[in-house]
Amino acid sequence: MRETNQKPAPLGIRHGDTVKVMVGRSKGKTGKVLSVDPGKRRVTVEHANIIKRHTRPNPSKNIKGGILEKEGPLHISNVMLVCPGCGKHTRAGHTKLPDGTKVRICRRCNTTFEN
Ligand SMILES: [Zn+2]
Repeated sequence: MRETNQKPAPLGIRHGDTVKVMVGRSKGKTGKVLSVDPGKRRVTVEHANIIKRHTRPNPSKNIKGGILEKEGPLHISNVMLVCPGCGKHTRAGHTKLPDGTKVRICRRCNTTFEN
């Protein structure tokens, strides 16, 4: 019998990373990760997958009516990390620094993603 892993698998993408959208309407767009949902394995990327919300005015909640444009979440498999070193989309590898800190590195050029 296999042991079950309670922790969700790490996404490899974190808040503040730059990612490129690989599929869908926002294909080819790059932007910063605004939020990460590890449970749903989704990320929200700046300027990507803009969805329009038509809202009704609700004076009691101080909401003005109209069209609200907002970034929609994208599935983790639809985006890729963009390396700050080589500027290309990449998969992150993992390595340990001499002091034992785990960092992510670009598999193409070995630039670390953490500062
Ligand atoms: Zn790189």
